[in-house]
Amino acid sequence: MPPADSSSAVDFIRAIVEEDLKNNKHNGRVATRFPPEPNGYPHIGHAKSVCLNFGIAVQFGGSCNLRMDDTDPSGESLEYVESIIRDVKWLGFDWEDRLYFASDYFEQLYQYAVQLIKDGKAYVCSLSADEIREYRGTLTEPGKESPYRNRSVEENLDLFTRMRAGEFPDGAHVLRAKIDMSSPNVVMRDPVLYRIKREPHYRTGDQWVIYPMYDYAHPLSDAIEKITHSICTLEFENNRPLYDWVVLETKAEPRPRQIEFARLNMSYTVLSKRRLIELVQRGLVKGWDDPRMPTIAGMRRRGYPPEAIRNFCDRIGVAKNDSIVDIALLEHCVRDTLNEMAPRVMGVLRPLRMVIDNYPENRVEELESPCHPKRPEMGFRKVPFSRVLYIEQDDFLDNPPKKYNRLAPGREVRLRNAYIVKCVSMVKDEITGELQEIHCTYDPGTLTGSPEDGRKVEGTIHWVSAAHSLPTEIRLYDRLFSVPNPMGEKEDFTKNLNRRSMEVLVIGRVEPSLKDAAPGSRYQFERMGYFCADPDSSSGKPIFNRIATLRDSWAKVAGQGKK
Ligand code: ATP
Ligand code: MG
Repeated sequence: MPPADSSSAVDFIRAIVEEDLKNNKHNGRVATRFPPEPNGYPHIGHAKSVCLNFGIAVQFGGSCNLRMDDTDPSGESLEYVESIIRDVKWLGFDWEDRLYFASDYFEQLYQYAVQLIKDGKAYVCSLSADEIREYRGTLTEPGKESPYRNRSVEENLDLFTRMRAGEFPDGAHVLRAKIDMSSPNVVMRDPVLYRIKREPHYRTGDQWVIYPMYDYAHPLSDAIEKITHSICTLEFENNRPLYDWVVLETKAEPRPRQIEFARLNMSYTVLSKRRLIELVQRGLVKGWDDPRMPTIAGMRRRGYPPEAIRNFCDRIGVAKNDSIVDIALLEHCVRDTLNEMAPRVMGVLRPLRMVIDNYPENRVEELESPCHPKRPEMGFRKVPFSRVLYIEQDDFLDNPPKKYNRLAPGREVRLRNAYIVKCVSMVKDEITGELQEIHCTYDPGTLTGSPEDGRKVEGTIHWVSAAHSLPTEIRLYDRLFSVPNPMGEKEDFTKNLNRRSMEVLVIGRVEPSLKDAAPGSRYQFERMGYFCADPDSSSGKPIFNRIATLRDSWAKVAGQGKK
């Protein structure tokens, strides 16, 4: 099911794949994988990697595996596995029967390690973690060899077997690769391959007390799955020689190739599972799927369509240098998609009562209103019109400036898909002076056209019928952080949270066609923005999340001006 909007432009990774295909490098095979560690919910950065890996497989007729990179028991769980599966599927990608778990390879990885020991390529080191760090040297000084480096193969095998058997406490020994303590690349100074960790694993339970390090498990998992192009983020560039060393020395075939690209950073948010976990655990957001979160689950609940996220990933492209993408671009992609697909409805966020004095008391007209201005195939819905309506408080001003083209005393405005009305009086609270309702008259000849006498009426406002509309709760969201780079300062990043990132309005009213709006369905509330029915909704009491306002700040940023 290749998503039609999946990337086709040639970036440097696609260029490598094309070249390899031309040279028949892997017998014409293209195999990628998306390898998340199930220690948090996926975020928009992961979406970039998902779109890249699955997109390449789709484009070149290859395959992409979904692999849980679950080799470190701390913090991994089934809940996270399930979130990853749900989110990748929702993004529109399909791994068919190729859902894999690196933890299923533990025995194979162990056997590879035994072989490395036998080949004199790995040894058991009994230095403490601090000592290992000290012996490693620095960028400018070479490291020092461990006194345990020259243990015999027999002793190493014996110790490694007993490590596995659980004879030693955490930290007593590690298995290290025997490479080069004076390598200019610190990563190559006898890196640790296995450590003792007495912690139950969410899948293997207490079967294992030694766990392989990422740098060892990852290349071998790739080789086991016959991955051809192992795409990862730039921070692993220095680790590539180790990736190649592991594959070469274990003689795992066929050999995958690691290619690094720049991770996605985005303004006004944080893209690090560790930080996101902190927000969730400290209760600073309402869970992983809080609509303000940059998680896929949060964006789904907010109402972002998967097409918009794929389109965003397409537009940011793939490069080799780090940058920060403006969150306004993501919001722009969301608006773009929703503008095309979201049915139009009317909803009033902050109601003001309007009585039409010359409209018959018991009359109700069902006015046919188009669901989309540019897509007649989306049809019409019926919107009831009656004597008492609600309009938006902001669409009325007691004392307006000259150019104000909404409603004011003595002025006229068109009610969307309905009549022209004129404000004739106001009712205010006798004590507080607060505006309670306005009274209008309507011009019966203006339902389908302009006034007969040719007078001009500039403004159009939205409305709902007081008796027919439904009460609703509307949740307005703004950016999660109030500064473009929340991680920028050394101070606690949570200090940069936007205190006004959520506002809940409980007085809103929506047209009755939204009575059974299914959770996840998205609409444009005319003039007010895009909204998505929340799973907290019940029949007759829909709850809406604001997905986005109508105002596009990206057009301005990009200097496109027009929109
Ligand atoms: P985090 O930094 O959020 O903890 P991670 O890299 O530890 O993320 P993994 O579960 O290891 O998370 O990531 C799975 C895959 O997604 C990896 O291939 C990783 O390179 C990629 N990935 C993670 N974050 C980003 C990002 N911000 N942009 C692009 N790709 C990313
Ligand atoms: Mg990681």
